[in-house]
Amino acid sequence: MTAAIYPGSFDPVTYGHLDIIRRAAEIFDELTVSVLNNKTKTPLFSVEERVKMLEEATKDLPNVTIDSFSGLLIDYAKEKNIHVAIRGLRAITDFEYELQIAQTNRKFSGGDLDTMFLTTSLEYAYLSSSTVKEIASFNGDISQCVPDFVAKLIYEKYGLKDRSYYEQ
Ligand code: ADP
Repeated sequence: MTAAIYPGSFDPVTYGHLDIIRRAAEIFDELTVSVLNNKTKTPLFSVEERVKMLEEATKDLPNVTIDSFSGLLIDYAKEKNIHVAIRGLRAITDFEYELQIAQTNRKFSGGDLDTMFLTTSLEYAYLSSSTVKEIASFNGDISQCVPDFVAKLIYEKYGLKDRSYYEQ
């Protein structure tokens, strides 16, 4: 059986992440999408909220499991007995950072954890969780970036009503 982990902040999950999740779930028998509890970042959504959103957004994918972890990815992967990490690449700027992390993980896991990169689908190449949050905070339209239920939750965080409320 082939298995992989897709780790990330997912604050919140976007169509870019969901595209990578769908494609990885076709390649691997089991895919664990895991929310990193990163104490150095101040997220908009709690780990629990991010896990819930991912569960809802992937409920039609039977071989995808949502989890969370803190600490080192190599320790978490070892605990789960998984040897492949998935990461998405949008641009050369992602590549430089990701290459360094991938090599560090391979080295420090004693060759036990490899990273597989999926390049973004072109329609999502511009998309990042931070851009989505910035647009939403000014009550901009994020319907092309995240599922509707996620958009609603983001607007709520900024104390705004869902855009459809104003458009009626
Ligand atoms: P990080 O884990 O670096 O804090 P994210 O949670 O936003 O960042 O992203 C998790 C992974 O998904 C990263 O590998 C990132 O490059 C990738 N990713 C994010 N947005 C997209 C996108 N639009 N298309 C492809 N991959 C993406």
